[in-house]
Amino acid sequence: MTTTEMPTAARTDLVGLSRVALRSWLERSGHGAHERVVWTWMHRRGGRDFSGLAALNMPRDLIRRLTEEAAVGRLPVEFRHRSGDGTEKWLVVLPDGHRIESVFIPETSRGTLCVSSQVGCTLTCRFCHTGTQPLARNLTAAEIVGQILVARDLLEEWSLPGEAPRRLTNIVFMGMGEPFYNYDAVAEAIRVLMDRDGIAISKRKITVSTSGVIPGMLRCNEELGVNLSISLHSARDDVRDGIMPINRKYPLAELMAACRAYQGVSSSRRLLFAYTLLKGVNDSDEDAKALLKLLDGLPSKVNLIPFNPWPGAPYEPSPMERILAFQQILHDARMITQIRHTRGEDILAACGQLKTASRSLPQTF
Ligand code: SF4
Repeated sequence: MTTTEMPTAARTDLVGLSRVALRSWLERSGHGAHERVVWTWMHRRGGRDFSGLAALNMPRDLIRRLTEEAAVGRLPVEFRHRSGDGTEKWLVVLPDGHRIESVFIPETSRGTLCVSSQVGCTLTCRFCHTGTQPLARNLTAAEIVGQILVARDLLEEWSLPGEAPRRLTNIVFMGMGEPFYNYDAVAEAIRVLMDRDGIAISKRKITVSTSGVIPGMLRCNEELGVNLSISLHSARDDVRDGIMPINRKYPLAELMAACRAYQGVSSSRRLLFAYTLLKGVNDSDEDAKALLKLLDGLPSKVNLIPFNPWPGAPYEPSPMERILAFQQILHDARMITQIRHTRGEDILAACGQLKTASRSLPQTF
């Protein structure tokens, strides 16, 4: 399915611009003072046809200039798959023809959009299907924000906050790519997402997942203050080196020092640690005890993730009894844990399964 066309190259796409950049663009024709109205119209109401600004008392010459020189672009959606559990995966087409995936996970009290930050990934975490797709390029801020705008279109929720319950309430950067290897674009996009006059998703509802890129964690801490999720997967350097090659660059001692320095972390705002259980690799009682020791004293929550196998994967999932035994050791030490319910497995939308091969799946819409 293709939704709408891209803006023509000659026009300025307003999606992904910061407020300062939008104001500066409008200022060139003396309309800087209308920046807030335009911003709110496109980010809250999903406005795309500039003639709609007439109803908001915008000057005619501004509307004419916007119509002639600007566009509010939308990334086309090539395929849309819906899992039996309601999870949706969208194959989004970028202006240069690359494809990325966004996943929407509806739950009773919230809906989470999992967005991508890169096309492919450089990090080759061995349990991750995405990691088998070489990095093609970083996404721009516009392409990251564009995934949220596409979601609002597909979910048909351009009502103002309070007018109707929102399905999309949370954003996680857990799709394709390592967000902190594309820090500037990710940060720019997050600022757009958090802006109160626009999309207005609070920093408490945005989570960036990192494999442990310490310089990015430090900047994120200072500049954005969003939630952080760390892909840990082992509390032992020898095991983590084998699962995640980045551990050789940022080993556990340095990673944990950066975690402990993360501001705002408290018993009510915990760091998230993702731990995928791989049979015979990181799922023993000793591994659980090593995890307890590593996180001792740090307000944290551990998501235990049953491994989702993909064709050619070098690991097998831990049996559920082993996962429960692992969790029990953590529970006994009063660590907050949950076994993450696998979502979207049947459409390869579950954690670590994203890879832009979706065209081989049947379209379900
Ligand atoms: S887990 Fe994340 S960082 Fe590691 S290869 Fe997969 S997408 Fe890249």
